[in-house]
This record gives sequence, C-alpha cells and structure tokens, in this order.
Amino acid sequence: MKILLVGEYREGQLQGCTCELLGFARQMKAEPVMFLVGDAADLPAFDGRLYLAEAGRYGEFSPEVHQQLVLEVVEKESPDLVVLSHSSYGWDLAPRLAAALEAAQISEAVAVADGAFEVPACNAKLRRTVRPATARGVVTLQAGAFDPAPAGGTPEVQTVDSAVEAAGAVEFLGYEAAEQAGVDLGKAEVIVSAGRGIGKPENIGMIADLAKALGGEYGASRPVVDAGWADHDRQVGSTGQTVAPRLYMACGISGAVQHLMGMKKSDFIVAVNSDRDAPIGEVADVLVVADLKEFVPAFMTTIQG
Ligand SMILES: Cc1cc2nc3c(=O)[nH]c(=O)nc-3n(C[C@H](O)[C@H](O)[C@H](O)COP(=O)(O)OP(=O)(O)OC[C@H]3O[C@@H](n4cnc5c(N)ncnc54)[C@H](O)[C@@H]3O)c2cc1C
Repeated sequence: MKILLVGEYREGQLQGCTCELLGFARQMKAEPVMFLVGDAADLPAFDGRLYLAEAGRYGEFSPEVHQQLVLEVVEKESPDLVVLSHSSYGWDLAPRLAAALEAAQISEAVAVADGAFEVPACNAKLRRTVRPATARGVVTLQAGAFDPAPAGGTPEVQTVDSAVEAAGAVEFLGYEAAEQAGVDLGKAEVIVSAGRGIGKPENIGMIADLAKALGGEYGASRPVVDAGWADHDRQVGSTGQTVAPRLYMACGISGAVQHLMGMKKSDFIVAVNSDRDAPIGEVADVLVVADLKEFVPAFMTTIQG
C-alpha cells in the first residue's frame, strides 16, 4: 500500500502530530512519503521521501494553495491513501482533497486493521468500522490514537516548485489563541487528578491539597466535572485538556480511553486505585492498590514530614 502523509507546520515549527502520521505509516508497514509545507530548518527526522513546499512562498495556512500542491504530489506518487491529522488543518484540507480526487473521506480514525478504519460513532460511545468504497482514500487520524514514530533518519527532500497561486477566496490573516479561562493545566509540571473514586465532592479538597503540596495543579475526570465537583477547565481527556506533565497522579480514575487520550503522554504516571485490574494500570508506571481516602492523607503526611 502506498501512503502519502501530509505533515503539519505552524508558526515556524513542525507540529508533533507529524510524528504520529509517521507512526501510522510504520504501523501500516508502508514506506513513508510525506508532503509538508514547512521550512528546511525544521524537517521531520525519518528515512523516506519528503516533498517540501516552502512556507515562506506558499503560506503556512492556505487551504486552496495547499490542496493544489498536494494534488500535484498525488499525481506523481499515486498513493492509495492520503493521510492527515484530525486537526483544524486536516479538517480544512482533507475534504477538499477527497472531493478533488473523488475519493472516500474517512474522518478521525482511531485504529486500523485489514484495510478498514475504526472511527468514533454516537458521540464516541461506540466505534464504527469503515473501509473506503473508492480505490483511493483520504483519512484523518485522531490526535493521540497512533503512537508517534521514534525520530531518526534523514528524508530525501524534493523541493516543490509549483506555479500554483491563491485563488483568492480565502485570505489567511494570522493565528489567534483562544482566550484561556481559569487554570491552564497544560503548563503544570505536576497534576493530581480526581476521579469518580473520590466518592463525594468534599474529597476534592484532599486531591487539591496534595497537588499544591507537590507544587502542581489538580485535575479531574469527566464524571467529577459533570457532577459539578470541579470546574470544566480542570477536566483532562478527549473533551477536556490534553496534558503532559512530568508527574501525573490519577486518584480513583479507571482509565477510560477518553481520559487516557488526555494524559498518556505524561512523563511518569502514578495511579491510586482500589482495583488492581483497573485499566489505568496499563499506562501507569506505578499502580498503588489502595483506598485513596487512606492513601492520599498518609502520603501527604509523608511528604510534609
Ligand atoms: C464523547 C465522550 C467524551 C469523553 N470525554 C472524557 C474526558 O475528556 N475525560 C474523562 O475523564 N472522561 C471522558 N469521558 C468519559 C469516560 O468514558 C469515562 O466514563 C470516565 O473517564 C470515567 O471516569 P472515572 O475514571 O473517574 O470513573 P469510573 O470509570 O467510574 O472509575 C472510578 C475508579 O475509581 C476506583 N475507585 C473507587 N473507589 C475508590 C477508592 N476509594 N480508592 C481508590 N480507587 C477507587 C474504581 O476502582 C474505578 O477504577 C468521555 C466519554 C465520552 C462518551
């Protein structure tokens, strides 16, 4: 199978999701061929072909132009799949490419097996398995669903030289960060999170105290937020914040996939759970099998003493 990956570059930097695209190609056992609007000073490290279109010339975010550039590479490479990240860049570009190529478009793939893709359905409560009904497919990958390929190697760069010009319907003005309300967990080096296992809202206090004692912030799983025990800006997961602190402590959190998506890139994960078989144990570096109501106060006493 031939795959063309469409890498991402933003505000002068290669985006991390580009490594997840490479991880996908690796999982598919396909030779990585990538198209990137970027800069020669910040290239992805892999062994394979890289079609590089200079961002300075073609614009960092110019869907009409980028669509034409990708189509030119598709013409040369004739891939079976064109693969992008499920990001604002991918949402914009993937449907344009699919329409131009008359190819099936599959959004937000989370897994792949035998040429079929698993995608979330029913507000992510179920997964649907789909296969492109056309010879060629355009697929976007959910962030975090595919392990990034380890960086290594030097791509064989082919500079894209195209006469394509902006059609003028869309003019890119710049990026504007969304206003950050409340706490920004993304900046915390330590996060102690409360799950449904805390049992009652009053127990948020001991989780917050432990987070403070460790010099960090407290987070929460979705049921804790839905119950009104913590504000939404504390929620970690697919519909909350994505975090990667040096230490993540999950207290009374089972480890549902939607929660893991938000924290599995943490450097060191400690889980406190009364159930030794809780799925969080699969990603935890240390699993403390204990009642958190006993463990957390005892741990506090130890670190303060
Ligand atoms: C579209 C969609 C988006 C979602 N987005 C998110 C999201 O962003 N973030 C998120 O977290 N979830 C999200 N969810 C919900 C997710 O599927 C799970 O339901 C949720 O993560 C479970 O939260 P939990 O682990 O706190 O609770 P539970 O799954 O109920 O787990 C509680 C855990 O606490 C343990 N426990 C109980 N008592 C104690 C005790 N005394 N001491 C120690 N351990 C104890 C139990 O063994 C259990 O493992 C989403 C779901 C959907 C459908």
